[in-house]
Amino acid sequence: KVVCVTGASGYIASWLVKLLLQRGYRVKATVRDPSDPNKTEHLLALDGAKERLHLFKADLLEEGSFDSVVDGCEGVFHTASPFYHIVTDPQAELIDPALKGTLNVLRSCAKVPSIKRVVITSSMVAVAYSGKPLAPDVIIDETWFSDAAGCEKSKLWYMLSKTLAEEAAWKFAKENAIDMVAINPGLVIGPLLQPTLNTSVESVLKLVNGSERFPNVTYRLVDVRDVAGAHILAIENPSASGRYCLVGRVIHCSEVIKVLHQLFPHLNLPEKCADDKPFVPIYQVSKERAKSLGLNFTPLEVSLKDTIESLKEKNFLG
Ligand code: NDP
Repeated sequence: KVVCVTGASGYIASWLVKLLLQRGYRVKATVRDPSDPNKTEHLLALDGAKERLHLFKADLLEEGSFDSVVDGCEGVFHTASPFYHIVTDPQAELIDPALKGTLNVLRSCAKVPSIKRVVITSSMVAVAYSGKPLAPDVIIDETWFSDAAGCEKSKLWYMLSKTLAEEAAWKFAKENAIDMVAINPGLVIGPLLQPTLNTSVESVLKLVNGSERFPNVTYRLVDVRDVAGAHILAIENPSASGRYCLVGRVIHCSEVIKVLHQLFPHLNLPEKCADDKPFVPIYQVSKERAKSLGLNFTPLEVSLKDTIESLKEKNFLG
């Protein structure tokens, strides 16, 4: 079976490519710069890559860039999208590649009758910013959709980019009879395959190396291997449909510190998180749909342990 993965060099996508090769798929993988070894070497070294991994150059903002890649595929995983919180031009750096890029990929898919399903990597940030208040008895589920106008007003640019992209994707898929599934992960942690840092793992590094204070926030965490696995379940399970929230654990920052203390007593961590704001409420995220896909979540302790060990192994952390 032939599938396409867009943005294959990324953190989540690299795990997806690894698992797809393990499962015997032929993978057509897009990268922006195939000549950059930081983006390709770890992919080319994967088991099965020699025989079944094919790299293509493609850019989200180039019209028709994905036409020849998706041609002949049975499934397409659209993961490519910029993930940064600090930007100078949100429209050019985040919104255009997320929104126009998603439509660009879907337009290519609409031309190919062999494609049975498209799985897009959306995010919990396209779910949770609905404006509804959060409290311990509130359960966020797939019926929630973030409010784009609210994100824009609060200058939550990354959240806005993912919300607009998913909204537009559903509209396009419906109008063009594309069988589409959206995967909506929380903050993704777990080991890195690539030699560079992505935004979510970098945020863990900044906390444990002391360059940033632990903030007074509640995290929605999920393991990268679970996220990659869910993408494959979403394409292999014929009855998969709609959106899938993926959050293994909702946890306040102070609890993350406790877990890290237990796992790594020698790390020089603070005793508690910043308490300059009122306590941020904990809430719940439904696991029902994710479980119905057949997904079992990795325990948070394992994900955090493997993240820190990976950061050490790759010399990001002493
Ligand atoms: P990475 O930063 O590791 O990967 C992002 C990928 O997008 C890279 O491969 C990058 O390509 C590609 N990309 C960005 N802009 C363009 C462009 N203009 N044209 C082509 N490709 C482009 O991020 P993650 O693996 O963390 O994220 C992957 C996906 O998962 C994104 O859609 C993100 O929004 C989503 N997500 C991530 C979460 C997380 O916590 N990590 C949580 C929820 C969702 P290049 O390598 O060339 O820069």
